[in-house]
Amino acid sequence: MKSYINLMEGCLRCGQCTAHCDFLCKYGLDHSLDNLERLKELSFHCFMCGECAAYCPKGIDGKVIMQMIREEQTRENHGNPVIGGYEKLLEEKIDYLYQNYRLGGYKSVLFMGCNFPAYFPNSTKKLSKLFLESYDIGTIYECCGKPVRELGLTKEAGESIQRIQQRLCENQIEELITVCPNCYLYLKDKVDVRVVSIYEKIKELQIGENIDDENPYIFQPCPDRMEGFWKESVQTFFNNEIQCIKDVQCCGLGGCAKSSEPEIANGFADKIRKKGYEKIYTYCASCTGNLRRNGCEHVWHLLPVILGFPQEDADIEHNRRNRENSKYW
Ligand code: SF4
Ligand code: SF4
Repeated sequence: MKSYINLMEGCLRCGQCTAHCDFLCKYGLDHSLDNLERLKELSFHCFMCGECAAYCPKGIDGKVIMQMIREEQTRENHGNPVIGGYEKLLEEKIDYLYQNYRLGGYKSVLFMGCNFPAYFPNSTKKLSKLFLESYDIGTIYECCGKPVRELGLTKEAGESIQRIQQRLCENQIEELITVCPNCYLYLKDKVDVRVVSIYEKIKELQIGENIDDENPYIFQPCPDRMEGFWKESVQTFFNNEIQCIKDVQCCGLGGCAKSSEPEIANGFADKIRKKGYEKIYTYCASCTGNLRRNGCEHVWHLLPVILGFPQEDADIEHNRRNRENSKYW
C-alpha cells in the first residue's frame, strides 16, 4: 500500500494547490516533501475539501495525504485523539447517540444522516411520511461516522461501520437512500447493501418539481466536487443549466478544521456573501446550515424545494436539539 510520502513524490512544486487553498496559502505550503514536517504539524488545519487535487497536474490529493497523516498521528498517540475540542462530537457519533431504527423494518430506507434532521426537522418528517405512506420506504436516523474517521480514529470508525452493517442485517434492509452526499460517498463501498442518492430515487419514483430559475447557482459540497455525481442528478431538476460557485473551496465545516482555522472557515462564507448572489442552492444540510450561520441568507437546501414542501430555513438555533429529538421520531 502506498504511503503519503509516495503520493507526494511526484510533486512539481508548481504551486497550483497553494493558489487554490486558503490554508496552504496562509502557511506558504504546497504538497511537496520539503514541507512534510510542517504539514504534519498542521494536519488538523486542512479542510479535507480536495480542491487542491482538482488543480494539481499530478493529481496529488491533499485530503488523502492529510487523512493518512492524521491516522499515523493517532496510531502514534496510542489510538487517542490528537487534537482536543472534539470530545462531544466523538461522544455523539462513535456509537451514534440518536440512532433510531423504529421505521427501519423495510427493504428500502431513507438514511437521514445527522445533519438534515438537525437543520430541517419539518422537511425530514414530511419526507419520511411521504416515502412511508406512498412507497413503503422506511427511515433510519443514523450517522455514517465520517467525522470520526476524519479525526484519524480508524478503529472507532471501523466499529461504527460494523455496527451499522449489523443493524442493516437485523432489519433486512437492502437499499439505503442517502440524503447527504457525505454519507453516500462514505458508505457506498463500506456496507453490503445498495447505496443510492435521494435525487436518484426521486427521479426513479418520478416525483419532484422542476425549478425554473433563469441562472441557478449551486454551492457544490466538497465530497461531490471530483465525481460530480450528485450534481448531475440534481441538474435534472432544473430547466436551465446550473452553475457552480467557484473559488470557495469549502463551507467551512470540512475536515473538522474549523476549530484550528476559524478565520479561514468563516472567510469562505464571507467570499460568497461578497459575490452578492440572490439565491444559492445546495444539497448538503451542513453546508446550508453553516453558510446561513455565517451570514449567507440566500442559501437554500434543494430537497424541500424539489419536493414542493413548505419553505424551511435551516434551523441554526436548534440544530442540536432537533438532532437529539430525532431519536424519538
Ligand atoms: S484538501 Fe482542501 S484544505 Fe486541504 S490542502 Fe487540499 S485544498 Fe487545502
Ligand atoms: S499542485 Fe500538485 S504538483 Fe503542484 S505543487 Fe501542488 S501538489 Fe505539487
